[in-house]
Amino acid sequence: MSTLLARNARVLVTMDNERHEIAHGGLFVRDGFIEQVGDSKDLPKQADEIVDLTGHIVLPGFVNTHHHLNQSLDRAYPPSQNGNLVQWLKGLYPRWEQCGPEDTKLATELGLAEIALSGATTVADHHYLWPKGVTAARQFEAASRVGVRFHLGRGSQNIGQPHGGFAPVSMIEDEDNVLAGTSEVIAQFHDPSPGSFRQVFVAPSSLRTATPALMQKSAALAAKHGLQFHFHLGETKAEIDYVAAKYGKRPAQFAEELGCLTPRSWVAHGVHFDDGDIALLGRCGCGICHCPSSNMRLSSGIAPVSRYLKNGLTVGLGVDGSASNDSSNLLVELRTALLLSRVAAESDADFLNARMALEMATRNSAGLLGRTDVGILAPGYAADFIAFDSDRIEIAGSEDPVAAIAFCAMTRVDHSWVHGRPLVRHGQLADYDVSDLVERIRRRSRERRGVS
Ligand SMILES: [Zn+2]
Repeated sequence: MSTLLARNARVLVTMDNERHEIAHGGLFVRDGFIEQVGDSKDLPKQADEIVDLTGHIVLPGFVNTHHHLNQSLDRAYPPSQNGNLVQWLKGLYPRWEQCGPEDTKLATELGLAEIALSGATTVADHHYLWPKGVTAARQFEAASRVGVRFHLGRGSQNIGQPHGGFAPVSMIEDEDNVLAGTSEVIAQFHDPSPGSFRQVFVAPSSLRTATPALMQKSAALAAKHGLQFHFHLGETKAEIDYVAAKYGKRPAQFAEELGCLTPRSWVAHGVHFDDGDIALLGRCGCGICHCPSSNMRLSSGIAPVSRYLKNGLTVGLGVDGSASNDSSNLLVELRTALLLSRVAAESDADFLNARMALEMATRNSAGLLGRTDVGILAPGYAADFIAFDSDRIEIAGSEDPVAAIAFCAMTRVDHSWVHGRPLVRHGQLADYDVSDLVERIRRRSRERRGVS
């Protein structure tokens, strides 16, 4: 039994159903779970560990709902700097074909370390390339080294370049292999218990890169195990046209017919949904992960997020892959979502406000992952929380420091805790050596370039 008391926060944002924000707030934690939340004067006075958060803004830890961590060593890759999604993929696949398990592991650690510094405490990775030797075990190992909760999307592609996909044939799998591999990863790693650090979801890449049969069987496999289901949908106008030409339907409609839209599903991007698609997603209870930086970077368009929210859809936040964002930073994504919602807005009624953006990064994102134990600071929830010093130069003097977290150019948290244990302390990872990681990356990139 161990207890933690975090107290005296300037304001503690619970994100509970009443959206309580508690001045002089604090948390009392026992064995990784929150036992009490409230005014610090009403909390126990003693604990094994006491943290004084005077002057800090405290929020639930951020949850990332779409990533491709294996791209973290491909940021600003020259052949893919200036193209849309298809051109970007064409530039990167020859590089990805050369990647081995060591590259994937290093990239995963790098992306997780970066996103943890931006306030993430739970991260979902959509991992759909499994070149020889790449294993889920290494992904989970990387996550446990960094210290975040990790949801691995066992992804897949079975349509390659000759048949309208993007990957070279050497990088795709056949259907049997995907389904057997996914079942194996579920059996080995999925832990549904409260406070779990390891979960698995089923994640074929998209309607363009997975056959209807694979989409359908993957969705059925997720349903059989009660797991979340995830794929890219409505990312580009080209995808809408391709699916219409090949299958004679809107992608959302086709996905629904294949059993892919359920209350356990969420889709990445959702830039190009019309009113019919929105109504369909609402009826199915399917959520959306908004990835604003990637949508801008690849010229995919602007997802009408406030329209989705007004129609009752759950919208969370994701950074997308490191090579289509060039960062893994949820604070940047939060601010970008807030600002981008205003670019295409017909009136200010369509603007996201700061608290809506913060909800997306916390309770909404946790909901997309099917978590009922993170994303909110309330009794019974895991003690995943983050703290920002309100005297920092980026936000000092703000009358509304909670909104300032979303409006101002913040890129790092000051402190964070996962399951009541420190993840970030004073803007640095508490138990992870970034300089050692960078040295390993440097060594590997010399090897890849053939330089000794
Ligand atoms: Zn993606």
